[in-house]
Amino acid sequence: MNTPQHTLAAALHQARRIVVFTGAGMSAESGIATFRDKPDSLWAQFNTRQMATPQGWRENKQRVWAWYEGRRGAVMATQPNAGHAAIAQLAGTLQRLHGHEVQVDVVTQNVDNLHERAGSASVIHLHGSLFAPRCMACHRPGEFAPGEPDASLTELDPPRCQHCLGYLRPGVVWFGEDMPQDAFRQAEDLVDTCDAMLVVGTSGVVWPAAELPISAHNLGKFVAEINPTPSELAKYMRVQWPTSAAQGLPQLLNLLGTA
Ligand SMILES: [Zn+2]
Repeated sequence: MNTPQHTLAAALHQARRIVVFTGAGMSAESGIATFRDKPDSLWAQFNTRQMATPQGWRENKQRVWAWYEGRRGAVMATQPNAGHAAIAQLAGTLQRLHGHEVQVDVVTQNVDNLHERAGSASVIHLHGSLFAPRCMACHRPGEFAPGEPDASLTELDPPRCQHCLGYLRPGVVWFGEDMPQDAFRQAEDLVDTCDAMLVVGTSGVVWPAAELPISAHNLGKFVAEINPTPSELAKYMRVQWPTSAAQGLPQLLNLLGTA
């Protein structure tokens, strides 16, 4: 059959290395976007300059730390959806069908940990992670204070670095900051060596992340998009399947098992 999902399944059957590139739409059905829409939530009081720039941190690190701890707590209260689960099962499903090793790497713009919690083994975070704080002074990874984060606090002292006693900062990329170079380079290497790229739940407007699907297309790779509406990247896609992550990806996994 010549539907988008059948063309996509046929391409994945041929692939040994697959990159899944995800954005906010991937986590929307886990309730993370809904949280953003609540009028009384921390999100509603979001002020970009205060909460997501190095200047905001210098002005009031207690306010910034409390806000990110609230976001981390909100993510911990959600669950990976059926789309995250299907991505985590993709490599194993193809391996069982074909008897050879298949590698699936996730490259995500999301700062939540839902891919990891669903069981994906290889996840690259292009915009950092709410779960990877680091020291402002020596840049080494830090640890959270024990206990559940309290989303009701508006100010909270950041924990201190166990090495140099500097303050820990949230491990996300702020406005005016570069993307982590190691993560971006790893993602570029994966794009260079993959056979197929699956783009899920991203509008394709955040740069330089959006370069990755375009570069996959320019290298002649099979690139497909799963988005309810076509993204800015649609013209680079061999296939555009208009569906959501939590609906489309489990269907795709079923189709792979039966086709
Ligand atoms: Zn330190």
